[in-house]
Amino acid sequence: MTCVEFKEIAALFAAGALDPPERSAAEQHLGEPTHDGCFEALRRASDTWDAVGRSLPPLRPDARVWQGIASRIEQKPRAAAIRTWTGWAVAAALALAVVGVQGARIRAERRAATLGAASAERDQCARDLAEARSDAVLQREALALLASPSTQVVALAPQQAGASITARALVNLPSRAAVLYAAGPPAPSGKDYELWVIRGDKKLPAGLLRTQPSGAILARIDPALLSETPDALAVTVESAGGAPQPLGPIVLVGALPHT
Ligand SMILES: [Zn+2]
Repeated sequence: MTCVEFKEIAALFAAGALDPPERSAAEQHLGEPTHDGCFEALRRASDTWDAVGRSLPPLRPDARVWQGIASRIEQKPRAAAIRTWTGWAVAAALALAVVGVQGARIRAERRAATLGAASAERDQCARDLAEARSDAVLQREALALLASPSTQVVALAPQQAGASITARALVNLPSRAAVLYAAGPPAPSGKDYELWVIRGDKKLPAGLLRTQPSGAILARIDPALLSETPDALAVTVESAGGAPQPLGPIVLVGALPHT
């Protein structure tokens, strides 16, 4: 492994998200006597990951667990379901790092274990796994953002005393990519958290933040909203389903540094 190659995967290394062979190759590389910025890249990735990752420990899906779920489900065949489940199992096994999966996985396992149960259970299990899978995709996007030196980490500050939701956004303006991490209790019953991109006096709706079973929220910000540099990101509490303009209380705000 070269220094250039190491720096490309430093963020994944810091997050513990490399496959064992990649990880040992990276460790071996760090043991070499001279480097071109490898330790700086690693320190930066670790610091950033510590900052953003406290609420979202990177988790590895265990391929055997997923295969086990798939095989148990296949014992109770439903033709359409088998294809889908197998696809999920493969996708999950391929995922390098998954956030928020553990809660979903435990529930999925429990449900799969009692699979004589009604198809409603199976459907819920499918939703849990689908949710976990979309988390994995977003987590990989977030890790890719972390690895880029042009990514800014924007901390969103609570606007209300005692607010327990926290959020940080990884924003890469050159590539118009941004992922928001949040953690905290779900929105009150009948309400949703809604994310806003603020530019001047415009408040552009950027989607609802749905809490995952783990308590984590991961959301991708629509690249179209990043075509011009936003001034800030904000989260409000709105009626379920959200609103085209913010009406509810603001819970989080984070300003983007203008360079
Ligand atoms: Zn090196």
